[in-house]
Amino acid sequence: MDAANELLEGLDPEQRAAVVAPRGPVCVLAGAGTGKTRTITRRIAHLVHRGHVAPGQVLAVTFTARAAGEMRTRLRALGAHGVQAKTFHAAALRQLRYFWPRVVDDEPWQLVEHKLRLVGQAAHRAGAPTERESLRDFASEIEWSKASLVTPEDYPAVAARVHRDTPGPAEQVALVYATYEQLKMRARVLDFDDLLLHTAAALEEHADVAGEFRDRYRCFVVDEYQDVTPLQQRVLDAWLGNRDDLTVVGDANQTIYSFAGATPRWLLDFGRRFPEATTVRLERDYRSTPQVVSLANRVIGAARGRPAGSRLRLVGQRPPGPEPEFAEHDDEPAEAAAVALRIRKLIDEGVPASEVAVLFRVNAQSEVYEQALAELDIPYQVRGGERFFARPEVRQAMQALRVAASSSVPSLAPVSAPSDEDAPAPSSEPSPVGETLDAQVRAVLVPLGLTEQPPAGGATRERWESLRALVELAEELVTVVPDADLARFAQELDVRAEAQHPPTVEGVTLASLHAAKGLEWDAVFLVGLVEGTLPIQHAGDDEEAVEEERRLLYVGVTRAREHLSLSWALSRSPGGRRHRRRSRFLYGLVPENHPAALPVRGRGRDGAPSRNSLRDETRRRCRTCGGALVGTMAVKLGRCADCPSNVDEELLARLRAWRTDRAKQLKVPAYVV
Ligand code: ATP
Ligand code: MG
Repeated sequence: MDAANELLEGLDPEQRAAVVAPRGPVCVLAGAGTGKTRTITRRIAHLVHRGHVAPGQVLAVTFTARAAGEMRTRLRALGAHGVQAKTFHAAALRQLRYFWPRVVDDEPWQLVEHKLRLVGQAAHRAGAPTERESLRDFASEIEWSKASLVTPEDYPAVAARVHRDTPGPAEQVALVYATYEQLKMRARVLDFDDLLLHTAAALEEHADVAGEFRDRYRCFVVDEYQDVTPLQQRVLDAWLGNRDDLTVVGDANQTIYSFAGATPRWLLDFGRRFPEATTVRLERDYRSTPQVVSLANRVIGAARGRPAGSRLRLVGQRPPGPEPEFAEHDDEPAEAAAVALRIRKLIDEGVPASEVAVLFRVNAQSEVYEQALAELDIPYQVRGGERFFARPEVRQAMQALRVAASSSVPSLAPVSAPSDEDAPAPSSEPSPVGETLDAQVRAVLVPLGLTEQPPAGGATRERWESLRALVELAEELVTVVPDADLARFAQELDVRAEAQHPPTVEGVTLASLHAAKGLEWDAVFLVGLVEGTLPIQHAGDDEEAVEEERRLLYVGVTRAREHLSLSWALSRSPGGRRHRRRSRFLYGLVPENHPAALPVRGRGRDGAPSRNSLRDETRRRCRTCGGALVGTMAVKLGRCADCPSNVDEELLARLRAWRTDRAKQLKVPAYVV
């Protein structure tokens, strides 16, 4: 079998259809865990192996640095070396560096370091509130506007039209926004969104730049396309020009960045934009056990206002596993301690720590879990390796390694530590000559906090994990380049930093639900499922915002391969008033015989939905699988048509026939009935 055919192994017929589709528009519209990312990486490798495209002509983009890193690893494993797999921002930054001298008559501008400070100056000049909370609100409103291609001049009108909850009078926000842009321009710095804006503008306005770019990149692939913003779409359009060699994959049910301007409309409209596109739908879930899949179906089945094209039901392919666990706790430290204990047990049973994740809604929830894990001596990493090379200890370590590498006798010249660091200055002890590379790296990193044993916890532990990851990288490099020295290692780090390719940091991942998308773990702990946290307080009564929070839970649930735990605590601190209410999304998920089950006849101890709405909700759920019921007949029977465990074929046949007839009568598609 040739290499290209081997790439079709382990794919189902629909995935294969997307992989072998000729160059041109391809859209894979499918639920979580159905193999979208696997399909696009195989497609790229297949095109390369077949000689349809050179690896350097492919540009694959995704939304987080970690997901981009994983895609590169998968592509390399498939023999497709040299394919660019990056985040939109990283791709834009690289292009901009290259084109800058031709499009701007100036030295390259730096990225703004203290954005909030600049927003603060703008707010001050605009006579707007300048306390931290307001500045954060202004900053995110500016981000939303830029991602949505809304200029300061247009802001008041657009904000009114889309009923935006503006942080202060719209004219004031517009003034802060305009002033911020001016200050930024004057300081000759760029923010993240400018990278995309300038890239799009360079291609739109400079025919030579566009020509050169389009000659270089000919095949585009976008993962997680449901979360593309108008600004990113503009960049993508500028990349494409009038070509159509574009593969997109996504799941409208996983749109979780609409608060930041993202929209699934391009994903759902792909077929209309490219009528000749190959469109593939995947329904088999290869990631999770049927128990997890069933829970995921229930979470998303209860969603309101799902756009057509997002009503996909996942069918689990894996053998059964443990039932999802639900746990209610008195307070947050108790919840964290119980989670840590459960993780300890899983690790003792043989689950690697790196196969476990604790996912939360807001980063502030992380700390109590860090402490609980550290207490049980469980290694962990926050943020899942995101921005690894931006961590202060890593920057310091790289500087120290460079200095050590450049001195002919491998001794360490003192390196000035960044002022915001309380790290010990690197020692000037000479390290012994021609030692193995990892021993040399260790010697450089010891003064920065690399101890023999891991420290107890908190920031020191995280710092230690970063340094240890660097030593492991050195060990890895020696296996590939046996005579690598410190200089070669420093160079390797520079390349990785440039490509945003962080090393794997061992340990349990602590991450926000947003950072977890696209990723998977054997065991996932979804914590803090209380009203005000998930859904988040500021979602308020805004139905769309609440639905986005539900999708976040869906993203969280679908990260688990096998073990899934959902937990919540009724008060923040021990002995505190138990005033918190469990998340409304838990309704219908907790099994009825579970001690934490919600009362069906709404006594509403937790302020659960009212008696009537509860009854209504119950009536509208499938008695077998708990999925949402569509259509009067389904409600009457208490069964849904496509329930995976529904065995009453006769009943199903009656229901389907009734739906088809009714749909014909009403002249609408069957799913509407
Ligand atoms: P998400 O929406 O969460 O990004 P996805 O659709 O991109 O999910 P993948 O990450 O590509 O899903 O795949 C999920 C898991 O299923 C991976 O572990 C992948 O290796 C596995 N998988 C995908 N397709 C198959 C298949 N045909 N046979 C066996 N395993 C598969
Ligand atoms: Mg994916």
